[in-house]
Amino acid sequence: MKDLPARRLLLVHAHPDDESINNGATMARYAAEGAHVTLVTCTLGEEGEVIPPALAALAADRDDVLGPHRTGELAAAMKELGVTDHRFLGGAGRFRDSGMMGTEQNERPGAFWAAPVDEAAAPLVEVIREVRPQVLVTYDPDGGYGHPDHIQAHRVAMRAADLAADPAYGTGAPHTITKIYWNRVERSVVEAAFDHLRTTAPDAFPGIAAVDDVPGVADGDEITAEIDGSAYAGAKAAAMRAHATQIAVDGPFFALSNDLGQPLLTTEYYQLVRGVPGAGGGARESDLFAGLPETGGLQEAVREVASGSAPGAGPGSASGSRPGSASGARPDSASGEGA
Ligand SMILES: [Zn+2]
Repeated sequence: MKDLPARRLLLVHAHPDDESINNGATMARYAAEGAHVTLVTCTLGEEGEVIPPALAALAADRDDVLGPHRTGELAAAMKELGVTDHRFLGGAGRFRDSGMMGTEQNERPGAFWAAPVDEAAAPLVEVIREVRPQVLVTYDPDGGYGHPDHIQAHRVAMRAADLAADPAYGTGAPHTITKIYWNRVERSVVEAAFDHLRTTAPDAFPGIAAVDDVPGVADGDEITAEIDGSAYAGAKAAAMRAHATQIAVDGPFFALSNDLGQPLLTTEYYQLVRGVPGAGGGARESDLFAGLPETGGLQEAVREVASGSAPGAGPGSASGSRPGSASGARPDSASGEGA
C-alpha cells in the first residue's frame, strides 16, 4: 500500500452514527492532518428508531427501508468529516442490525449478533491487510453500553486484529496493528457537561440523560489518551446532524430517539489496551500515533526535548523500549511497512 499516507487509522463501529458520536472530532482531525482514516461499519442500523415524524415509515416495523436511508446519512456524515474510505463489513447488508438486547431480532438469520465471530472477522482481516493501519479504535468488551451489535463489533475487531497478524491465516501479507484503543468518555468531564446542560439549556430536550446512559463512561485513571478535537467541533456537529433519523443536535447538546439531552463532546477519550503508550511518565497521550516514529508520532515526553535540539532524542530512539508499558504490549514493528 505504498500509495497510502504514513499514518493510518481504522475505526470499527456497529451502526451508522456511532462513529460521529464517539469519534467525529478525532476522525475529522486526522483526516484534515493527512492521515488515512478508514471506517468499517458492521450493520446498516436497520432496527434504529426514527426521530423525524415525516420519516417514520422508514422504520423496520413499517417499510423496513431504514438501512438504505442510513447508508446515505453515513455518506453525508463522512463528507462532513472529510473521510473518504468508508466501508460496510463484508459489503452493505451482509450483517443486519440485531436490535436491542433480548429482542427476537438478536437471533434472526443475518443478524450481526448471531454471526460467528470468526466469520464476521474474515472481511475485516482483508481490510486490515489492505490498509495496514497502525491504530485501531473500537469499543470495550461491553460495547460501551451493552448493545449486542456493539459487543459483537468489539469481539470482531479484536479477533480480526489477531487474525490479521497471523501469517498462517488466510491470504495476503500479515499485518500487526501496533496500537488498539477502546472508546471512553471521562466521567468527571461528562458530569460537568451535564451540569452545564441542566443550567444553560434545561428545556432543550424533553428530558436529560443520566451520566451512565453515556456509552463508555470511565474514571480518569482508565483513560490514556485524549484527543482535542475542538477545532473540529463544527464538523462533528454537522456529521451528527447528517444522521437525522437518529440524532437531534441542539448547540453543544444532542439527543437520540429517547429525547434525552446529553452533551456533544469535542474532546474525545480513549483507553490504550494494546501497544506502548507514547507519552512518558503515565501522562495522557494527545495523539493516537504517539510513539510510532515511522508515522511521525514522536514520543510525547521526548518531543519537547527534541524540539530543543537534543540529537538522538528524536524518532526511533526510544520506541517500544520503556518499562511500565501497557499490559499485553507488543512493541514490535513487524508491520513490514514499505516506504
Ligand atoms: Zn450503535
